[in-house]
Amino acid sequence: MTRKKPRELEERRCLDILRQLSAYIDDELPEDVCAELRRHFGACPNCEVFVASLRDTVKLCRQHQPPALSTYDRARLREQILLAWKPEARS
Ligand SMILES: [Zn+2]
Repeated sequence: MTRKKPRELEERRCLDILRQLSAYIDDELPEDVCAELRRHFGACPNCEVFVASLRDTVKLCRQHQPPALSTYDRARLREQILLAWKPEARS
């Protein structure tokens, strides 16, 4: 009788979890699925860390509006980007 290695099962579970992650972060999953995911995060440090950092990222994206750039700023940024790409043009 062969037994599957728990680690293999665990990794496949992680993939399932990761597929549902964005819906989870957006609170779009039914409560029972959320509970299941949370149970997995409690048991799986990898997923727990991943979710925490993803959640932070999403929060940051929602909180921070992109700064409004003036025409002058835009032109200067473009110039700096071009300079960074072509170091020889800097002299
Ligand atoms: Zn996991």
